[in-house]
Amino acid sequence: MSTLIYPRSQNVEGFPTGKSPGKLPRAQQRAEPDAQTAALRLLFARRLARALCIWKKSVAELICSCPCGKARVPVSGRPFARFICHCTICQSVYRAPFADATILWRNALHLKRAENIQFKKYRNPPALSRGTCVSCGSPVVALLPALGLAFIPAPRYPQSLELPAPAMHIFYHSRAADVPDNLPKYSGYWPSELAVTRLVMRTAFRRQADA
Ligand SMILES: [Zn+2]
Ligand SMILES: [Zn+2]
Repeated sequence: MSTLIYPRSQNVEGFPTGKSPGKLPRAQQRAEPDAQTAALRLLFARRLARALCIWKKSVAELICSCPCGKARVPVSGRPFARFICHCTICQSVYRAPFADATILWRNALHLKRAENIQFKKYRNPPALSRGTCVSCGSPVVALLPALGLAFIPAPRYPQSLELPAPAMHIFYHSRAADVPDNLPKYSGYWPSELAVTRLVMRTAFRRQADA
């Protein structure tokens, strides 16, 4: 490795004129370690950011639970849409005139710890896999893996959480009773399915872009 020699006359910081030459100026001495340090800091910052991101994804922000409290669905993130479903399966599973359901991404759910949930499909694919509490039988979550979507009944969220307002009624043709509100009402299988699909397209990506 060669050493740079500066002429005696050159006034180099830290090495006044007249003193023995032979060393790099202080600024240049530091240049190489500084670049290394900066690179290491950058690497560290990236790893930290990635670790924080993974940590944020893996930590549930809230718990959705059934009325008896045994079936629990830890969730990170928020639902992006909500609708009222009057289909006969919902009426049967919810034991109510209709289902008030929210939509969120499947990967927002941490179902590893949701032991007390029994899943069942009520129709042929691509049917929802509907999860109910093994103890009280209440619906807690429904999954649609093909589209990466999950549905959680609105009453399962903590009361303090602000949910999106219901956007529409679907399967309104099989309603148990008329609902006197101004929301759009879709009757028939395909109009209802299409309406929910459009609702997902309209809200899921908009909310992601906003976040
Ligand atoms: Zn339904
Ligand atoms: Zn329960």
